[in-house]
Amino acid sequence: MKTILAEKPSVARTIASVVGARHRNDGYLSGSGFNVTWAIGHLVGLSMPQDYGFEKWSLEHLPIIPEDFKLKINEEAGIQKQFKVIKSLFSASNMIIVATDAGREGELIYRYIHQMANPPGHIQIQRLWISDLTESTIRKGMADLRPISEYDHLYYAAKARNQADWLVGINFTQGYTLASGKRKPLSIGRVQTATLRLVVDRFKENKSFTSQSFFVPQLIIEDTETPVVLACESKFKTENEAIGAIEEIKGIDSPPIYREDKEIQEVPPLPYDLTTLQRTANKALKYTAQDTLTTVQSLYEKHKVVSYPRTESEHLATSQKDEVLSIFNDLPGFEFNGIQTDSIEENCLYNIPESKVFNDSKVTDHHAIIPTGKHVALDILNEKERNIYLMIVKRFFQSFLFPCKKANRKLSVRIGDLVFSASATQIIQKGWRELTEAKEPETSLPETKEGETRIIIDSKVYEGKTKPKALYTESALLGSMETAGQLVADKSIREGLKERGLGTPATRATIIETLIKREYVVREKSKLVPTEIGIGLIGSLKDLAFSTPELTGEWEFKLKQVERKELGYDKFMEQIKAYVSSVFPEVLSAAEKVKDIQTGEERKRNLTFGKCPKCNSGEIRKGKKSFFCSNWNQEPKCDFTIWNITFNKKLSDTQVKELLSKGTTRTIKGFKSKAGKPFEAKLTLDDDKRVKPVFEGKFK
Ligand SMILES: [Zn+2]
Repeated sequence: MKTILAEKPSVARTIASVVGARHRNDGYLSGSGFNVTWAIGHLVGLSMPQDYGFEKWSLEHLPIIPEDFKLKINEEAGIQKQFKVIKSLFSASNMIIVATDAGREGELIYRYIHQMANPPGHIQIQRLWISDLTESTIRKGMADLRPISEYDHLYYAAKARNQADWLVGINFTQGYTLASGKRKPLSIGRVQTATLRLVVDRFKENKSFTSQSFFVPQLIIEDTETPVVLACESKFKTENEAIGAIEEIKGIDSPPIYREDKEIQEVPPLPYDLTTLQRTANKALKYTAQDTLTTVQSLYEKHKVVSYPRTESEHLATSQKDEVLSIFNDLPGFEFNGIQTDSIEENCLYNIPESKVFNDSKVTDHHAIIPTGKHVALDILNEKERNIYLMIVKRFFQSFLFPCKKANRKLSVRIGDLVFSASATQIIQKGWRELTEAKEPETSLPETKEGETRIIIDSKVYEGKTKPKALYTESALLGSMETAGQLVADKSIREGLKERGLGTPATRATIIETLIKREYVVREKSKLVPTEIGIGLIGSLKDLAFSTPELTGEWEFKLKQVERKELGYDKFMEQIKAYVSSVFPEVLSAAEKVKDIQTGEERKRNLTFGKCPKCNSGEIRKGKKSFFCSNWNQEPKCDFTIWNITFNKKLSDTQVKELLSKGTTRTIKGFKSKAGKPFEAKLTLDDDKRVKPVFEGKFK
């Protein structure tokens, strides 16, 4: 009997149907010589401090640096039961086929289960390593099972990542929380904190930015149709300087024009890796990174229409050329930007043999996310699935189309040291852009002969303002996580930095959600804004290297080295353990600095609208229906109340604060009397501290 272990029940069902295991049992499927069972995600994980005997959080035990990390089966009853099923199937088998997700985390899930289930040593263990869940791929994978030992180093990297996160997370979170005197944990994490730092640093930079004006002289030159505006390539700090520059050239009324024409080629975009897909979906559709991950996972797992999504490659292997051709054949027709994909082929727009999409050196565990060719009726997909699927299909087509060719023309006038210019671009061959709506309108410039002179008909000065870097959107943050915060436009340098990014493509969405759940960051429309405690936490830790994207990126790089057998697991762990122990005291003293900063929870609890004007000792709090005194249930009781809805109008927090602090509000419009008559008035408090309207002006 062979036992196949999948990561999730749905994947197990898919594999079972391919190998012919159709009989349903409690916790597994069986038939044709196979048992197919499943883990439920992280069924086995690292033990917590209480399992090492440290029941309560206490600075005495910290830092906890286990010599050997213990494992533990998740305590939930359903999971315990499933583990027993797996264990008994393992011991009754002569072969285990590991079919957890083909990646670092999937490997860890199996290895931890293996350690706890401890199957007899004679059992052969093989790995199913596949990039999509279509029937043909599963069949191919089953015919080409790999010895599990080929993935040992992937496991070491996974284990090192897991244990490093434990050491940093447990010790720093407990230590920092205890030293800060807060009641609720202030979570610190290896990747989480460095990511928070990106958000906080950007926020501070944005808020402290002072916008400056700059001035650009412009010349307007004569043309048969519309006059052409040439802008000076130098900027001036003051308007006077800019005007001065124009004054100097007043004498020259028809300077010669230089013309430069060049052709620009825009190569097609590559198929998506997960981070690029998440960024694009965030920009175009406002989906969160988590939304996109969940959606593409379902397209992979449930509908089987796209390949394995948790990939960081944007390329395909050269051995996939035939596969790509058959995917093009298998895919039904789609329409993008009014173009039928079937007609693309007829027009010979494909460029498959020469495509840069195929690059073996850039495909590691997985290739880019591409359609599998399996048909799916678009109306059975939900809206998000449909949108993400179409994005992936469109990008797949585009990546094999010809480059977009553009003609760029630049006209310039040189006067003294100053160059005035204008440029315009027109598309000559759309290529891959055929499938996309044009974003920028095409512009054109007149046909001038080189050296032709034109009359300057006017000049003016344009005033611009310098702008701060925008607050992070999820798309921009994912981009920064990919390069550990380094801003690099150059695509090839970005590629190199990817190995030192924060987290992995598979974990980035979770990290952003974690920061939001911990109330370190809030979403304000599409922007990510740090909270006061988020800013405080980073402020206190700013001198500690683990809070920097650079060190976290460096650790990520070392994990890659462990995976590639360039660095030993032991060596890596030694470094992490030494770092955590040595920096621990500094984490404790950093925590002192957030003692007085309110956490989200404290803020809600302590939100006060000021001293009570009636008893002069209570604080005013906001309830569901009224603002009331905190002494409402104390002796002596205080019954001070301002109803949220006063004279048929809902009062704002600001208005109530104003009333309490100044004794009166500004004139408020929109009140209605009992008889339904609208009126406007200031509010004050009478001698009994009850709300009273004061009329003025025409109401006097
Ligand atoms: Zn009171």
